[in-house]
Amino acid sequence: MRVIFLGPPGSGKGTQAKRLQEAQEIPQVSTGDLLRQAVRAGTALGKEAQGHMDSGGLVPDQLVIALLLERIEQPDCARGFILDGFPRTVAQAEALEQALAQKGMPVDAVVNFEIDLSKLVERLVGRRVCPNGHGEWHVTFNPPAQPGTCDVCGAALIQREDDQEDRIRTRMETYRRDTEPLIDYYGKRSVLRSINALAPMDEVMGQIESLIGAI
Ligand code: AMP
Repeated sequence: MRVIFLGPPGSGKGTQAKRLQEAQEIPQVSTGDLLRQAVRAGTALGKEAQGHMDSGGLVPDQLVIALLLERIEQPDCARGFILDGFPRTVAQAEALEQALAQKGMPVDAVVNFEIDLSKLVERLVGRRVCPNGHGEWHVTFNPPAQPGTCDVCGAALIQREDDQEDRIRTRMETYRRDTEPLIDYYGKRSVLRSINALAPMDEVMGQIESLIGAI
């Protein structure tokens, strides 16, 4: 099963993708996570990406497309994958469509996380992430068992550089300009399924599972 999670930053795509990954035993592929790994490892890609990421803009299409296409060639993606944060532009969607068409493996569903953009600043400002990639929590809406501590490895949780309020506003503008047109793009291809991303987390998972069950 090949699924795309589409939605603005803070709409819960990452959290739900991690849960679906466990339930369906197919990997979550997050270009944001892959890029942050490259930044941490200090690779040429990481150096090129960092400025774009810190400012809340997008990393250039050709870099992200190459990264994503290489990732979905890995054996763990053979049974399918959940794309989280890719595509973010029409050019990325076209590149993905072309690559999957060559394999005869089209996308089965695009889950559109519908949410009022005004709710997102609060969600993102309160987000805290594990520095070792074990997931994310929210100081109010989804707190860890011990405040400020990763439930999995015990590391001190951190706030992402791009979760500062001014950067969040830039990311929202980027979303509106570059990513929102994908709703129309996938709508025309009859694969778009919308969910109410403002509902409590378990309810959102329920909505996703019933969509997936119908594929
Ligand atoms: P995320 O973790 O998905 O919020 O992504 C964090 C940042 O990584 C974004 O604000 C972008 O700068 C960059 N990024 C992640 N995915 C993409 C993508 N598909 N295209 C361009 N930039 C991306």
